Amino acid sequence: MATYNFSAGPAMLPAEVMKIAQEEFCNYDNSGSGIMELSHRGKQFAPVIEQAEANIRKLMNISDDYAVCFIQGGASMQFAMVPMNLMLPGQGADYADTGTWSAKAAKEAKRFGEVNICASSKATNYDRIPVIRHWKMSEKPSYIHITSNNTVAGTQYHSFPETGDIPLIADMSSDIMSHVIDVNQFGLIYAGAQKNLGPSGVALVIVRKDLAERTGDIPTMLRYSTYIDNGSMFNTPPTFAIYMLKLVSDWLLEKGGIEKIEKINDMKSESLYELIDRSEFYRSPVDGGSRSRMNVVYRLPSEELEAQFVKEAAAQGLTGLKGHRSVGGIRASIYNAMPLAGVETLIDFMIDFENKNG
Ligand code: PMP
Repeated sequence: MATYNFSAGPAMLPAEVMKIAQEEFCNYDNSGSGIMELSHRGKQFAPVIEQAEANIRKLMNISDDYAVCFIQGGASMQFAMVPMNLMLPGQGADYADTGTWSAKAAKEAKRFGEVNICASSKATNYDRIPVIRHWKMSEKPSYIHITSNNTVAGTQYHSFPETGDIPLIADMSSDIMSHVIDVNQFGLIYAGAQKNLGPSGVALVIVRKDLAERTGDIPTMLRYSTYIDNGSMFNTPPTFAIYMLKLVSDWLLEKGGIEKIEKINDMKSESLYELIDRSEFYRSPVDGGSRSRMNVVYRLPSEELEAQFVKEAAAQGLTGLKGHRSVGGIRASIYNAMPLAGVETLIDFMIDFENKNG
């Protein structure tokens, strides 16, 4: 029985990537050692990190104005690094509050300066992205921070605010490389790798180089310039996570890049939402214009039925469907690595479950 893992992160990786990693696990490039046993300064690892960066630049069409950095500490450390590096004295920053993770980012930023919540959907349980033309930006914030996809609530931006010369900063942990974006719209993009890019242990940070020059006197390992000036190798980087990220980005290029995967992602999410909308049994708590193409959140008529759904689905190889502990319900996370066949199998199961219990 095939297993399709719908977990929100760490999440499934492409089967082809897992196979290559397995084959190379104990003997990378005929070195007699696994990649994680080899020096980060040695001849095997250098091309890995270089290729990972080159792949990312190619996939996302990133210009030389931006640096690509690999940083430990996950997306949560970026919640602190962003304000530490980019908040200007006396200017504070604007944060859009669209869910658990953006609230955490804003809370962390408050340690470093004034935070203005320029928009929030908290009053409606984070069921939508607040309409951008109603946002209340402050006079001259150091930057504006958004969370492009809200992993817990299942919402996603379908367009981004135009912020002129105020840098737009985005936490893209749960939708990076899932659809085409224009990197030039952003001052900085960050993402924990463990959903769309690879295993946990590394965050990808794409930062406009001039912004990294804003930084005052802060600890070395928390400065973007340390990573930029040393090719993310000031100290020992998370070599295995970067190797996996390289394999995942090779895979994505082979698949035809982000434009191609976006089409598949659209098909996957549309077919799920279509079923949810036409059924009287399943219900989406998310506003129609804000639905995530990565985390499809839905409810059943009762919590008992939801528990039964999760249990029976798992018995059929459809795992990780339980919603986040803070909101309950069902959440199908369908990142790039989830094949169409996985979503089709889930849909068949949902129809069958409704027929038996509806
Ligand atoms: N931002 C978003 C949108 C997330 O989904 C998550 C994790 N699920 C985080 C930040 C935190 O990531 P990490 O565990 O890498 O710190």
